[in-house]
Amino acid sequence: MLGPVILAASRSDRLRRVVSAAPVTKPVVNRFIPGESVDQIVPIIVDATSKGLELTMDVVGEDITTPEQAAAARDAYLELIEHLKALDLGTRAEMSVKLSMFGQALEGGHELALANVRPVVEAAAAIGTTVTLDAEDHTTLDSMFAIHEELRKDFPQTGCVIQAYLFRTEDDARRLAAAGSRVRLVKGAYKEPASVAHQEKPEIDKAYIRVLRVLMEGDGYPMVGSHDPRIVEIAQELARRAGRKPGDFEFQMLYGIRSEEHLRLAREGHRMRVYTAYGTDWYGYFMRRLAEKPANLLFFLRSVLTKN
Ligand SMILES: Cc1cc2nc3c(=O)[nH]c(=O)nc-3n(C[C@H](O)[C@H](O)[C@H](O)COP(=O)(O)OP(=O)(O)OC[C@H]3O[C@@H](n4cnc5c(N)ncnc54)[C@H](O)[C@@H]3O)c2cc1C
Repeated sequence: MLGPVILAASRSDRLRRVVSAAPVTKPVVNRFIPGESVDQIVPIIVDATSKGLELTMDVVGEDITTPEQAAAARDAYLELIEHLKALDLGTRAEMSVKLSMFGQALEGGHELALANVRPVVEAAAAIGTTVTLDAEDHTTLDSMFAIHEELRKDFPQTGCVIQAYLFRTEDDARRLAAAGSRVRLVKGAYKEPASVAHQEKPEIDKAYIRVLRVLMEGDGYPMVGSHDPRIVEIAQELARRAGRKPGDFEFQMLYGIRSEEHLRLAREGHRMRVYTAYGTDWYGYFMRRLAEKPANLLFFLRSVLTKN
């Protein structure tokens, strides 16, 4: 019940200002977003990759309001890629991007987002890695898939994300799997209406497994984005039945969530990629992590109350 309330709160500018400014917020935020700058994040990248983990890096930010902010988002990714070049990690560190941060919601946003994301994809390819387009709320997805298709003409490794809670996703999965695409499947983290998305966890979980089967049996590269132990087990079984070996698909989890499981899967020989977010505009990302697990909210409130 709390999840949708927190997601609604995540749209409030007033709450954004209060939560972002409160000094007690920082330690809780750090669990999920372990740095604000490239210099702070590089040691985290070095440490994770030395343990056999792979990464997908997210410079946090969304809901920007000017083309200048969109250009700044592009430049932040280009700066990150410069640092990754020096580390020479190839596909062990890729990028995740939200097209809203590249200007998708502004006037002429589709073209603007494509123009901003293309240089990032080019720069990633130049250092031997790639980019995955995150999935945001359902109204943005037709544009995201069109940009994904456009980018894949020159950079076929460009990935995208699909969300199991949406009714449309099984069809999207079939199309993307037939096209041989890299696809991350997640349950979905936005507040969506009942007209477009399953609302109950059992329905979402069943949809996830149906869509995962489509991806595993298809021609693409499935990226299993979930912390759910049942999904992790079922993914291994579906991969086995589809004749996929550990390197023919990968697991992905978020930084700060089930960290021991990241290491266990990597030790078992799986590709395990950790979605690692950093930057100063962390409010939206942080609120979605709270909404996914109400215990996080209690932890957060307790730290606020005990420090005041
Ligand atoms: C790599 C990756 C990329 C993602 N990209 C997107 C995206 O582009 N678009 C999008 O809409 N969503 C994205 N998500 C979020 C996703 O949609 C879910 O909201 C999130 O992963 C929780 O679902 P779950 O599959 O882990 O299962 P759940 O059933 O929600 O959780 C299973 C278990 O995982 C643990 N857990 C899950 N979430 C948390 C949390 N926040 N804090 C602490 N423990 C937790 C708990 O132990 C829980 O019992 C992404 C998730 C991952 C892992």
